[in-house]
Amino acid sequence: MARIIFLGAPGAGKGTQAKVLADSQGIPHISTGDILRSAVANETPLGVQAKSYMDAGDLVPDKLVIDLIRERLQESDAETGWILDGFPRNVEQAGFLDCLLGEMGQDCDHTINLDVPDDVVVSRLVQRGVESGRSDDNEETIRRRLEVYREKTEPLINYYTEQGKLTTVNGDQELEAVTADLQAIVK
Ligand code: ADP
Repeated sequence: MARIIFLGAPGAGKGTQAKVLADSQGIPHISTGDILRSAVANETPLGVQAKSYMDAGDLVPDKLVIDLIRERLQESDAETGWILDGFPRNVEQAGFLDCLLGEMGQDCDHTINLDVPDDVVVSRLVQRGVESGRSDDNEETIRRRLEVYREKTEPLINYYTEQGKLTTVNGDQELEAVTADLQAIVK
C-alpha cells in the first residue's frame, strides 16, 4: 500500500502510468481531470462550474477541486492508499493537501515527477486530440495548458524537493520502461 502523488506536464503520461500502478498496488487512482470531465458530461453543479475553465485550458477554481479531493480521500477505498493524478496543481492546493493529510493522520510516501521534454509532450497531446476527441486537446488549449503548467504547477517540483520527497522519473521512454522505473520506486 502506498500514497503517491504524480506530478508532470500535461501529456507526460501521468494518467496512463497511474492506472497501471494503482491496479498493481490495489489502490484507487484519483484523477481530478477524470472526475471533472465526468462531472461536465453529467452536467452536475460541479461540472457546470468547471466547464468553461477546462475548455480554456485554465485551472478550475481551487475551492471546487479542494472540496472534491476532501470528499474523495475520505471514502473507504482510500483509507490504505491512493494515487493522486492532477492534484495538487499549484502551491495553494499543495498546502491544503498537507493540512488535510495532517488532519487525517496520513502522509504521502512518494511524490513522483514524470519528466518529458516539451516537444514530446506537445506531439503526444496533438495525437491524443486526434484519437480521443478530447475537447481540450486542440493546439490553442494545449499551449495554454502548458503555460499554466509552467506558471502554477512546476513550482511544486521545488516545493516537494524542499520537503525531501521528490523522485524524478524519465517519462520519455517506452511505456513499459516507465512502468518498471515506477514499480522500482514504489515496490
Ligand atoms: P492534463 O494534465 O492532460 O492537462 P487533466 O485531465 O489532469 O489533463 O486536467 C484537465 C483539466 O481539468 C485541466 O486543464 C484543468 O482545467 C482541470 N483540472 C484538473 N485538475 C485540476 C486541479 N487540481 N486544479 C484545477 N484544475 C484542474
